Amino acid sequence: QSGVKRDEKGRNIQVVVRCRPFNTVERKSSHGVVDCDHNRKEVLVRTGGLNDKASRKTYTFDMVFGPAAKQIEVYRSVVCPILDEVIMGYNCTVFAYGQTGTGKTFTMEGERSPDEQFTWEEDPLAGIIPRTLHQIFEKLTENGTEFSVKVSLLEIYNEELFDLLSPSEDVTERLQLFDDPRNKRGGVVVKGLEEVTVHNKDEVYQILERGSAKRRTASTLMNSYSSRSHSVFSVTIHMKEMTLDGEELVKIGKLNLVDLAGSENIGRSGAVDKRAREAGNINQSLLTLGRVITALVEKRPHVPYRESKLTRILQDSLGGRTRTSIIATVSPSSSNVEETLSTLEYASRAK
Ligand code: ADP
Ligand code: MG
Repeated sequence: QSGVKRDEKGRNIQVVVRCRPFNTVERKSSHGVVDCDHNRKEVLVRTGGLNDKASRKTYTFDMVFGPAAKQIEVYRSVVCPILDEVIMGYNCTVFAYGQTGTGKTFTMEGERSPDEQFTWEEDPLAGIIPRTLHQIFEKLTENGTEFSVKVSLLEIYNEELFDLLSPSEDVTERLQLFDDPRNKRGGVVVKGLEEVTVHNKDEVYQILERGSAKRRTASTLMNSYSSRSHSVFSVTIHMKEMTLDGEELVKIGKLNLVDLAGSENIGRSGAVDKRAREAGNINQSLLTLGRVITALVEKRPHVPYRESKLTRILQDSLGGRTRTSIIATVSPSSSNVEETLSTLEYASRAK
């Protein structure tokens, strides 16, 4: 195999932006400052008055999705090509990065339409995680591969690890991280992490529900849990293949779907915001992820994977023969313009 497919510029990190629609509060009390041009792959932000040409900033990305973009479009253009790589036996990662309230969870998990109008797999509001699992079963069953699928869901809060699929009732139980000497690419073992085998696509939804229930409990016990925690949903696929001379070969592909902590604690320059520092909200994992991505993009000899839990866990799925997509989510509103600019700057540095 010739390695992971790269884009025209030879990169294996792709950065896309998704702007959500206005919400009711914003519609009343603010105006729109973000224009998305899907064809030109540009995002324009008006930082000053409406007709003030001087205070506009334009950013170019690999793809740009405006407020009208549907879940299926994001899935098809961003995740489908990555899932093909995973099925070929590579490790890949999709991140959602952005200010709290801009649609990270909407993008990664999605929602259910009211009144149980649709089954979970047909729901137009379903996000990347349910769509991916559904597609894995469709694709591999279709081409007759013998395969098994395992999923895990771990969350990082304040540099501590929590297992959202563990059978334990106690959501505050922490997991320990160890280096895996057998993994030459610098993998780690999360001791005791529950890996649930998914036998068919109908089991997927129950598993996701189990994770959500635990997350709701965690939110009641830990301060600002949902905006400060990173959620790492990993799918591992074992696939049996026959070589031409009749030998059995096992391919393993892994896809990490990561809903990051809210980006609001990290300032424009990638440094920790003074207010955040004073409030003790330094998010080591979010900060280190930015540095790891910069080091990979600039092909620096040292990549600081070891400096946070998130980057240690994802080490064997970032850089090298892997593919990564970052979906940066933003609000369209003038009331969030500063955070929108920092998100776009952060995302630009990853290109
Ligand atoms: P985050 O996870 O980044 O904090 P959420 O995913 O919870 O943000 O989204 C915040 C709110 O905005 C939710 O009510 C969600 O339904 C809505 N929302 C976000 N993105 C979209 C979108 N693309 N289309 C419609 N509603 C969205
Ligand atoms: Mg969220």
